[in-house]
Amino acid sequence: MTTLLTDLTILEKYYDIARVIDPLAPASLPPAVCSLWDCYHLGNSAHTCKNCVSLQAIQQKETFIKIEVRQEKFFMITAMPLEIDGHTAALELIKCISEKTAESFLPLPGKSTNLYRAIAELNDLTIKDALTNIYNRRYIDEQLPLEISLSQQQNLPFSVVMADIDYFKQINDQYGHSVGDEILKFFAAQLQNNIRQKNSDWVARYGGEEFLIVLINCPEGPAYQVAEQLRKIIEQTPISTSAGQLHITASFGVHTFSGQETDLHQLIDKVDNQLYHAKQAGRNCTASTNRKKFSRIKFTGNSANHVKKLRRF
Ligand code: GH3
Ligand code: MG
Ligand code: MG
Repeated sequence: MTTLLTDLTILEKYYDIARVIDPLAPASLPPAVCSLWDCYHLGNSAHTCKNCVSLQAIQQKETFIKIEVRQEKFFMITAMPLEIDGHTAALELIKCISEKTAESFLPLPGKSTNLYRAIAELNDLTIKDALTNIYNRRYIDEQLPLEISLSQQQNLPFSVVMADIDYFKQINDQYGHSVGDEILKFFAAQLQNNIRQKNSDWVARYGGEEFLIVLINCPEGPAYQVAEQLRKIIEQTPISTSAGQLHITASFGVHTFSGQETDLHQLIDKVDNQLYHAKQAGRNCTASTNRKKFSRIKFTGNSANHVKKLRRF
């Protein structure tokens, strides 16, 4: 570690910030201060960067580079995996490139807004699902281990909800794939618009017609209520599609991080198991790990006759 710190001192001559970070155990590292760069890992922000290259470097054991704009300056961030005492951390190097590189592709002063937007969109592309414009599976894989770690460090509960559209295959079969896509967009938007954005809650597309909702600082009871509220919104809101107005329902599984799940796979297995129970109970309901009763089921279609029951308005 001493050699490492000496090397960092050398690197600091060439970079604005050179640091070793361990996103899964930030408390074990000395806090750094940089007024220009707000970052959870520097200790001056409550939130991690959306497209955190250090998380990617650690999880994929490869070097990642990105460009970000902060206070109208361009920064190049390089993150590479680093093995320390048997676990992987990241060496993160941040360099302001505004004066050098950026000048060459900034045609006129004051005309840079589009470029700033393009860079932000580029960073978004890696973590957003193209169809629904919410976070993608990659974001789940990177962010969920961090939520587990934060929950353990801060001793705060967090819950995961898995939502799955009921009989979605039949919707595709009856109305076509593009109508299916319209429904997926509607569903994602409803989930996204009905969670507490300020509490750092987030929604991501897990795959197909399955979505994950992560509720920060939220124990099981309130998480169940959130899932139920979402379920009712979905059940009660008609969807305007190119095939007319349709209604869908969805099933929800809820699991609160217990401290025993060691990784995201165990956590997802638990919530997936609850979703399975909700499907088994007849769909359009919510199942939660420590809750014995299912919510009242208003709609009990089965795979044979569900499409007939899809109401047109
Ligand atoms: P259940 O009520 O048990 O959840 O049944 P289901 O029909 O919703 O589930 P199933 O897993 O049988 O079908 C999921 C379907 O989702 C099959 C697949 O073709 C469709 N699907 C997956 N991704 C997309 C997509 O991006 N667009 C569209 N339109 N359909 C998709
Ligand atoms: Mg489904
Ligand atoms: Mg499914």
